[in-house]
Amino acid sequence: MTTARAPDPHSPGRETGGLILVVEDERPIADLIRLYLTRDGFGVHVCADGPAGLAAARRLRPVLCVLDIALPGMSGTEICRQLRADGDWTPVIFLTARDDETDRIVGLELGADDYVTKPFSPRELVARVRAIRRRALGPPDAEPVHTLGPIALDPARRTVTAAQGPVALTSTEFDLLAHLIRRPGRVFTRDELLAAVWGYAAHAGTRTVDVHIAQVRAKLGAAAAVIRTVRGVGYTADG
Ligand code: CA
Repeated sequence: MTTARAPDPHSPGRETGGLILVVEDERPIADLIRLYLTRDGFGVHVCADGPAGLAAARRLRPVLCVLDIALPGMSGTEICRQLRADGDWTPVIFLTARDDETDRIVGLELGADDYVTKPFSPRELVARVRAIRRRALGPPDAEPVHTLGPIALDPARRTVTAAQGPVALTSTEFDLLAHLIRRPGRVFTRDELLAAVWGYAAHAGTRTVDVHIAQVRAKLGAAAAVIRTVRGVGYTADG
């Protein structure tokens, strides 16, 4: 367990990418991820087992977690589940086995923001990390609160309120909803949403979008009617 560079994780500026927690028990993979993320300006803290990873996530408050699924002691999905149960919505990217779609879907349903399939290119992982960080740094403070039906979405504070009160969304869920709500009535294809929200077009599957939409709807409760499925095309938000 070592920390390469140590920017203050509580105030990640644009010049330092912030601290990324990597929980990966395969040392060569962990070293490779550390190399690429460090080179890209992020601080990196590596843990090699699940319990240490969960403890580090709670103690260090990283700006993003990269979690392997199969880990000694506790799985990556369990770490994510426990963080979310604590009300911790730190973005999570899972490293999953190529052929395990179940892991991927379970991970996304647990509130992961994205996943990368092993074997992966470190550049691809860095691109995903950067996409999530770029979105988290967000639009200018000047962007007004958007309201649609019972939903109020505040891009500056990254909060969503519906009739029942505040809605706790993951970073990706927020960005997906924000993308739809910023252009009410416009129908987006799944590919368009992948490109706009995840920041890359050529993704393994559009199922990712469906899973996230389902999560957003579940959290919105009665307000979920605002998101409409357009059969054979994609999704739209209208009041
Ligand atoms: Ca592993």
